[in-house]
Amino acid sequence: MSMDADLLILGGGLAGLSIAARLARRGVGGRVIVIEQRARYEDDRSWAFWTPVGSRWACSAEATWRQWRFGVRAGGTVVAAAPQWRYVFIRSLTMYDAAQSAIAANPRVTLVLGVQAGAVQRQAGGLMVETSAGLLQARHVIDARPPDPQRLAGSQLLQSFYGREITIAKPTDASIADVMYDMRCDSQGFVFAYVLPLSPRNALVEVTRFAAKFHGRPALARELDTLLANRGWSDASVVREEHAVLPMGLPRLSRHEAIPGMVRAGTAAGALRAASGYGFLRIQSWAEHCVNAIAREQPPLGHPPEPRLRRWMDEVFLRTLATHPELMPEFFVRLAARVPPAALARFLSDAAHPGDVLRVIAALPPGPFLRAILERHSAWGRRP
Ligand SMILES: Cc1cc2nc3c(=O)[nH]c(=O)nc-3n(C[C@H](O)[C@H](O)[C@H](O)COP(=O)(O)OP(=O)(O)OC[C@H]3O[C@@H](n4cnc5c(N)ncnc54)[C@H](O)[C@@H]3O)c2cc1C
Repeated sequence: MSMDADLLILGGGLAGLSIAARLARRGVGGRVIVIEQRARYEDDRSWAFWTPVGSRWACSAEATWRQWRFGVRAGGTVVAAAPQWRYVFIRSLTMYDAAQSAIAANPRVTLVLGVQAGAVQRQAGGLMVETSAGLLQARHVIDARPPDPQRLAGSQLLQSFYGREITIAKPTDASIADVMYDMRCDSQGFVFAYVLPLSPRNALVEVTRFAAKFHGRPALARELDTLLANRGWSDASVVREEHAVLPMGLPRLSRHEAIPGMVRAGTAAGALRAASGYGFLRIQSWAEHCVNAIAREQPPLGHPPEPRLRRWMDEVFLRTLATHPELMPEFFVRLAARVPPAALARFLSDAAHPGDVLRVIAALPPGPFLRAILERHSAWGRRP
């Protein structure tokens, strides 16, 4: 059978572009096609996370912070710093542009914009994919499209946020990243502000809610207006906006949804950490392993399953958050105050040592977490 591509990548977002750019730079993977539904890339999001000093991302980030802050509206603020760690900010358009340049430099890798991918079917010798531009055949497929809305809605919790990158008139202190600030619980659940001063005159300011139900952009935008007014930034000019509803504990796909020859990557494959929604580094790590496998002439790898201990801890955490959102502000401040900053940065970056995990457990108020563990086990007992 003649194939259009050796590898077809469905969805050219962070996961799809990250693998395609690596394949293009290393010149492996044969003929590769990426199908992306948007007609052009915009600066639609930013990625921020903890990373060690000297790492690739710490060196290339647009903004970095040595200190980060957790704060509760009712009082109580912790400023943390770890000499070997930075909190960093990467602009999506910078990533999209770099990936597109790498792809454009290799004629064996093609990015097709403005085309929607549909159903994937197994056929003799490969896979057939329906697209809005016709049928495509490939030996392997990586599906990096987002989860469908129904599956997203089945998540343990949803993380809804809305933010604006702003230019401010009066210079502000840009030395501390407010990663979870003004934390509180109201009738709709747990909410906090996220303020990254990118420079003395630029900041990314967001309102984030962790809740069972979805929070739409207009309601979050009103909350953001209040936050900006409280900071004295009502008159700031808006550079761009970002809004998202991310899964926290996405339901797993059943085995019968697997298609031989196709692997899944990115958010729909569980790339976002259930307890935090952070996904950038996890997607980069998957892309690195996947390109290494392809370079060894092995089939592409899907996003790996979550290690059992981390999956269990995140499930217990989300269960506690769902049943006791009022405890969350105190919980996060306790974590920031009692766990050494480097240990917490490692824990939140999937790089925890066994001692870090014990420190995190020791910092938690035991009662609600023990109840969540017991409830989880009795829920297991009820399963048919
Ligand atoms: C606004 C925002 C801010 C975030 N901030 C952070 C952060 O600070 N730190 C962090 O670690 N994580 C963050 N995340 C989480 C995560 O890192 C990102 O969502 C990341 O983009 C996930 O990558 P992905 O490839 O799974 O999905 P996406 O990047 O969303 O890519 C999916 C792609 O599939 C395309 N697509 C969809 N349907 C089709 C179709 N039928 N055919 C073809 N193409 C299709 C979409 O257009 C899109 O380009 C953020 C997410 C958002 C939305």
